[in-house]
Amino acid sequence: MARIDLDVPYSQKDEAKSLGARWDPQAKTWYIPDGAEVGQLARWLPIPNDFELEHEPEFLVRSPYYYVMESLSDCWKCNALTRVFSFKLPEEHEEFQYIEDDEEEFTLTRGLGEWKSHGHRGTVSNVHSLSPRVVKQMHRFTETFKLAYSKTAGSRYFMNHCQHCGAKLGDFFMHSEPGGAFFPTSPEQANKMFLFRINEKFDANCDIRYATDDFMDYMQIGGE
Ligand SMILES: [Zn+2]
Repeated sequence: MARIDLDVPYSQKDEAKSLGARWDPQAKTWYIPDGAEVGQLARWLPIPNDFELEHEPEFLVRSPYYYVMESLSDCWKCNALTRVFSFKLPEEHEEFQYIEDDEEEFTLTRGLGEWKSHGHRGTVSNVHSLSPRVVKQMHRFTETFKLAYSKTAGSRYFMNHCQHCGAKLGDFFMHSEPGGAFFPTSPEQANKMFLFRINEKFDANCDIRYATDDFMDYMQIGGE
């Protein structure tokens, strides 16, 4: 095994030296000698540069534009039909993926990752946080899409509430059960749903569900 070059800032050279790093005056670089332990010198290992690494952003899902999606659901409490909302993301959306460390001591890459696009549309659920701009857009459609605690999920997320009685309408049945408000299984069902395109950036921490047939083309395009 060859030696491993390090990225040691000048101010930390003495520390690196005390931990076993050697100086190569020709190449002007600190390095771990052939066969020596990486150990605590791992913090100075160069960051892999074969792809663009970034520090974790505040929101792990982003899209240049998005759709507010409207559907109808039965309220479990008052049995009335109520309007419910979610988001649909276009093919251009991206998810931030963390670099997976093979070695635990390789602390330099902690919190680093890159944006990945899967190239297909997705339906948003379990929204734990949203950028203020997206919250503002959603409030143009409804005041009942708001943070609430879910016993099923064991956490707080942006949840729909019945427009008649205010009961919480959790994401699980609407998103995970075929035929649920946001899980259309036929063109007829999708035709009762509306999409409103928002030409602004989408930023959130949420889940995204993909379907081989999401029936999006059968949904009605809503006007402003
Ligand atoms: Zn109700």
